[in-house]
Amino acid sequence: MSPSLPQQITAAIASVVGAGPVCLHEPQFRGNEWAYLKECLDSTFVSSVGKFVDRFEADLAAYTGAKHAVAVVNGTAALHISLMLAGVQPGDEVLVPALTFVATANAVRYCGATPHFVDSETKSLGMDAVALRAHLEEATERRGGLCINRTSGRVVRALVPMHTFGHPADVESLLALARDFGLALVEDAAEALGSTYHGRYAGTLGLMGTLSFNGNKTITTGGGGAILTDDPVLAKRAKHLTTTAKLPHRWAFEHDEVGYNYRMPNINAALGCAQLERLPEFLDAKRRLHGAYQAAFESLSGASLLGEPAGCRSNFWLQAILLDESAADQRDAVLAATNDAGLMTRPIWTLMHRLTPFRDCPRAELPVAESLERRVINIPSSTYPA
Ligand SMILES: *Cc1c(COP(=O)(O)O)cnc(C)c1O
Repeated sequence: MSPSLPQQITAAIASVVGAGPVCLHEPQFRGNEWAYLKECLDSTFVSSVGKFVDRFEADLAAYTGAKHAVAVVNGTAALHISLMLAGVQPGDEVLVPALTFVATANAVRYCGATPHFVDSETKSLGMDAVALRAHLEEATERRGGLCINRTSGRVVRALVPMHTFGHPADVESLLALARDFGLALVEDAAEALGSTYHGRYAGTLGLMGTLSFNGNKTITTGGGGAILTDDPVLAKRAKHLTTTAKLPHRWAFEHDEVGYNYRMPNINAALGCAQLERLPEFLDAKRRLHGAYQAAFESLSGASLLGEPAGCRSNFWLQAILLDESAADQRDAVLAATNDAGLMTRPIWTLMHRLTPFRDCPRAELPVAESLERRVINIPSSTYPA
């Protein structure tokens, strides 16, 4: 009897990463991490003041080509502040892919606004600009330069494309749409540090972009995030709002608005500086891993490996396979077989509109996201083979 699809997929993964147990994504600390952490501890500046924060921000800006980077406690906080600075107000709506990690939708809620869920495309797993344009033409009208949802009467203020697993979304088409409908574009580039879209780095393509350095991301600071922008005024506002809106003074505690304690601690930034030095190596390793998976999955029918969109370079943060429609009913069997073999795999996220806090939010038709939800599986993606 020929092996079943779950058995074939398990064997294909094992042929690349070896026998289990293998994690989905584990961090690697083989550079200057220990040295910088020791330097940070020896300085006693482990918290909200210190040179590593400034250096990490400068290094991030230099790497991505963004004019400014502001380091913060996590990617969700970066999204929260970016949306506020993009003009999102209580009562607004913000266009968010239904297929994303919950942080994107949560950040909209933190602003007192409502996420409005839209569909994805199969190529990048990102926001589908064509479907979104059709949806906005039908569901919204322009009034006084604003985009108004005809049904809810609320202002649609911004859109937040997300670069799924590091594959850049179709930003050019989404920027054109943003211009046509008077929307601000904030990139959720949490998963896409090092990915490029037509030669430009993810996170630098819209008004503002956000990164995450959580433990499972391409580089980690333990927990952390950053806001990228070319706009000096927005960068200054982001720094101010994320540092309790304190006015500089030698001793006085003056705060000129309700600010947030979102600054990245120096000890996390020390880790970040060391990790960022390794990023080019990590990206090479991830690309090699993708090549090895390509060879392993080439001859397999019923599932295919997700590649990078045309004109883009993906950081290949998480490798993913897409089951054929005809094999979608075997998803849980594939998850069981691989995890039983010690090869960690995970389904893609539950779509946002199915989650309790977002059940009543407005949404477009979501045929592609609903199909992808049933068919995408992430497979081990760490920076090996070494
Ligand atoms: C990781 C991630 C974030 C931010 O996560 P934090 O854990 O807050 O750093 C935001 N959006 C997406 C899509 C993510 O994957």
